[in-house]
Amino acid sequence: MQQAKQAIWICPSCQQKNRVHTSKHNPTCGRCHTQLDLGTVQKLDEQTFESVLQKSDIPVLVDFWAPWCGPCRMIAPMLEQLARKYAGQLIVAKVNTDDEARIAQRFGIRALPTIALFSQGREVDRQMGALPLPQMERWLQSKLHF
Ligand SMILES: [Zn+2]
Repeated sequence: MQQAKQAIWICPSCQQKNRVHTSKHNPTCGRCHTQLDLGTVQKLDEQTFESVLQKSDIPVLVDFWAPWCGPCRMIAPMLEQLARKYAGQLIVAKVNTDDEARIAQRFGIRALPTIALFSQGREVDRQMGALPLPQMERWLQSKLHF
């Protein structure tokens, strides 16, 4: 039997950090009772980034992007697809590097988009630049053995 895994999920309505079981189908926010959809892309900032990365039992894929970056906009729908497909197995998150310059600096982000994969709070690998979905999935699978 698989061990119950937990993840930190930021409520999109009130920004509460919720600890959720990744196998639970309809978790709700402990504060405002908004339904939390684990198949969506999380937006992370200085307040939430560390908790989600460090306290989630499942890997976290972080898209470092900026609103003015064309390739970033191009891959946004792809990240939403990955979030939906791997709901409960993988957290897909994005960090706006214009708003969160300190996070970007800390991780030495020099190209946009940079897609970094974290497991247990540590960076496993990163991809610089936009990749087509099949290549992105192959890369993910080679790192995570889904
Ligand atoms: Zn809430």
